[in-house]
Amino acid sequence: MESLPCQGCRGLCCGPVPVTSKELKRIKTKIKTMPAKLRLQLQNQKRFYGTCIFYDLDKDRCGIHAARPETCRKFGYYKHLVCFRNPAAATKEPEPFTEEFVGMLSVDFTWKDFS
Ligand code: SF4
Repeated sequence: MESLPCQGCRGLCCGPVPVTSKELKRIKTKIKTMPAKLRLQLQNQKRFYGTCIFYDLDKDRCGIHAARPETCRKFGYYKHLVCFRNPAAATKEPEPFTEEFVGMLSVDFTWKDFS
């Protein structure tokens, strides 16, 4: 799969994303198993309003990459989730989500739900 030019965007496309209960559980495990220093460093970053609570500004990448939700995995490759720096990569047709969403990450679920 073509890679996206994420470097330098500083989380511009990483806003609130919908999550399922399974995804929430996976993220909770990821946060819980992070070294405390790393977790605090990620938690205490000053992000712009609307930027995902897990975006790592210092490293300019997702702070929970292996546990990121399905929407984030699809971003840039599906026609309804276009990366403005590489719109040509968004070729796939939207697929229906099979699991129910329980809320929005960064809005309904914030750091207090993960620490
Ligand atoms: S979970 Fe990661 S990839 Fe998804 S919006 Fe947040 S920082 Fe971006």
